[in-house]
Amino acid sequence: MMKVSNLDVSVVIPLLNEEENIPILYGELTQTLQKIAVEYELIFVDDGSRDSSLEILENLQQSDAHICVVSLRKNFGQTAAMSAGFDRAKGNIIISMDADLQNDPADIPMLLQKIDEGADMVTGWRFNRQDPFLSRKLPSKIANKIISYATGVHLHDYGCTLKAFRCDVIKTIKLYGEMHRFIPAIASSMGVSITEVKVNHRPRRFGTSKYGISRTLRVILDLITVKFLLNYATRPIHVFGTIGFISGSVGAVLALVMTIQRQFYGIPLSDRPLLLLAVLLIFVGVQFVTIGLVAEMLARTYHESQNKPTYYVRKIIASD
Ligand code: UDP
Ligand code: MG
Repeated sequence: MMKVSNLDVSVVIPLLNEEENIPILYGELTQTLQKIAVEYELIFVDDGSRDSSLEILENLQQSDAHICVVSLRKNFGQTAAMSAGFDRAKGNIIISMDADLQNDPADIPMLLQKIDEGADMVTGWRFNRQDPFLSRKLPSKIANKIISYATGVHLHDYGCTLKAFRCDVIKTIKLYGEMHRFIPAIASSMGVSITEVKVNHRPRRFGTSKYGISRTLRVILDLITVKFLLNYATRPIHVFGTIGFISGSVGAVLALVMTIQRQFYGIPLSDRPLLLLAVLLIFVGVQFVTIGLVAEMLARTYHESQNKPTYYVRKIIASD
């Protein structure tokens, strides 16, 4: 395996009000990682906890140099907290997991093994998910099906935080909103190879879940963003232009038919609601094409001002 630093594994753990869970999690992680004898660091990202999570972490850090605590100024959300951890991580392999003990540290060696076998990214499938059925498992099942269909990256479980990445993979992915569940889709669009493995899932024993059913809608909205960005960000005129063209053409044909009827057959236009529809469709058509053109200019600004590439290189083979 190619090494960029001498730290093998960074574990990134976003947490919000998980005081009872932290010491147990720390114990389990330490036990697992010491057993497989890798150089590791544990990055706990405190996402604005209001309980004693931060104090507990600071105390643990005093006695164990493997620990790094990133304390965010306020609650920025799980995705942002994960990003903060990824930015700080120095390991060759980066692992993300929840702090609430629902993910099992004992699965980590298996994830590392898969990366060793050549995967760029390994993602967990909570096949025996231990959450309430109606508010969590059912919406999640539906959302997983939709995401699988819409993104073309076929996995069983997108919401599982337990994942492992080669460091260069995760460092090039920027996350917004609640996008951490779309990491596989984003990664796959960059040509990254993804393996899904079954992982253990345990019921929450301490603390409460930070999410409710309302998350489903936000996930769907994020899906639209991701889908658009992945497929059309470099060619927005193709999506807007197509809609505009269809709408404008239908409107133009309607208008033409009505003009002929009016001119040659004397059918009056004043009592025909269809006229309104034709005018609307033509307007909408023109608007969509113009939005497409504006978006094309935005796409150029987006990529060129920040030197964002429109491609990703796996490696370069050259003699110099
Ligand atoms: N979390 C966080 N910031 C938030 C919400 C959640 O860091 O704003 C953490 C939380 O402490 C946990 C993980 O994200 O470690 C997953 O949250 P939770 O267990 O509530 O989600 P669920 O398992 O119910 O989907
Ligand atoms: Mg949980």
